[in-house]
Amino acid sequence: MKAEILSVGTEILLGDIVNTNSQYLSKRLADLGISVFHQSVVGDNEDRLYNAYELAFKRADIVIATGGLGPTKDDLTKEIGAKYFRKKLILHEESLNQIKEFFHRLNREMGESNKKQAYIPEGAVVLPNSNGTAPGCIIAEDNKILVMLPGPPKEMIPMFENCVVPYLLKFSDGVLVSKVLRVAGLGESAMAEKVQDIMDSLRNPTVAPYAKDHEAILRITAKGNTKEEAESLISPIEIEIRKRLGENIYGEGETTLETVVGEMLVNKKLTIATAESCTGGLLAGTLINYPGISSVFVEGAVTYSNEAKIKRLNVKKETLEKYGAVSEETAKEMAEGIAKAAGTDIGISVTGIAGPGGGTKEKPVGLVYAGLYIKGEVKVKKLNLSGDRQKIRYRTVISLLDWLRRELIGRI
Ligand code: ATP
Ligand code: MG
Repeated sequence: MKAEILSVGTEILLGDIVNTNSQYLSKRLADLGISVFHQSVVGDNEDRLYNAYELAFKRADIVIATGGLGPTKDDLTKEIGAKYFRKKLILHEESLNQIKEFFHRLNREMGESNKKQAYIPEGAVVLPNSNGTAPGCIIAEDNKILVMLPGPPKEMIPMFENCVVPYLLKFSDGVLVSKVLRVAGLGESAMAEKVQDIMDSLRNPTVAPYAKDHEAILRITAKGNTKEEAESLISPIEIEIRKRLGENIYGEGETTLETVVGEMLVNKKLTIATAESCTGGLLAGTLINYPGISSVFVEGAVTYSNEAKIKRLNVKKETLEKYGAVSEETAKEMAEGIAKAAGTDIGISVTGIAGPGGGTKEKPVGLVYAGLYIKGEVKVKKLNLSGDRQKIRYRTVISLLDWLRRELIGRI
């Protein structure tokens, strides 16, 4: 079976956004054993979109379109898809209710234009959207399948994984089962090196690495006649990989580092406070992504200036003068200071140079010191990170959460 990926959106053609959806779908379709021979991009234009469908279906059995399912006039993917298959669009009550609920949850009024999103081509399979308003849908006729997914990756990816993968598996013989192992503290290539021989020698299951921001993922995929058979193929490989990567594996599936750290803190009943300089609250914000954090997260301070570090965290003026704000000593005093001020078991601090300016030969952009006060003991960590300002801030947060995770392993 051949598939083609059709990315819809003028923004992509103008270079305003990077087409990560295509990349994601290509990788996943390869995992599923479905060949992709073409990817195409088309703007938000009726005629060109229609032509793009025509061309895509000349060379593929499945077309996966992303983008253009929104409420506005230039969102045309579904309308033109329906026209191509000569289907009427009919109101899908269940989707309308879900869209209404979505707005209700956000305490917002649903606009009249959002109603458009609940219109679905007649006979199409509806794919509910748990992370946004636009449902996706699948039209299948005469051995041609058109899958239409929303543009935002945080909506597209779960919809693809939860609804489209099971749908497509019906067209592949046997069952495919995947297991994702999540890795932090090892880059994609360092991780790959440790398991290279496994990746090279195996065909079923296959083992594939992916890099995601400052983390890496290993996906083990097996094909079997039944789910159990596929799982039993994965199991010994997973054991071997876990043996080699050890503590670098922090979780499985869709979990996040903040969820893993949050659960550890809650289970161990350890309270925490954060003091941030260069990350400007991103560490606290990330920890708070974990919904159970309220029982342990006490306070997050953004102490950007020297005065704030002195006033709120009790950092000594002499320390700042002698070693500077970006130093091991300051990081230590910040961590201890916030833990004492907030009365927590753990204080975690970060001070660094996120750039683009402010770097020197001794203290270049990307130099970050982090402090960890944990029940009376203070540790410090020096990081040398690359990337622009946002990347350095983000990578700092991932490194700190991973550091905290490793420190918490084994502590009762
Ligand atoms: P919305 O309801 O948000 O309008 P939509 O399904 O109509 O969703 P688009 O309007 O095409 O989708 O795109 C919305 C946003 O989704 C874009 O601004 C971009 O951030 C993201 N996006 C769209 N297509 C892609 C893509 N191919 N790769 C990565 N991101 C994308
Ligand atoms: Mg849109």
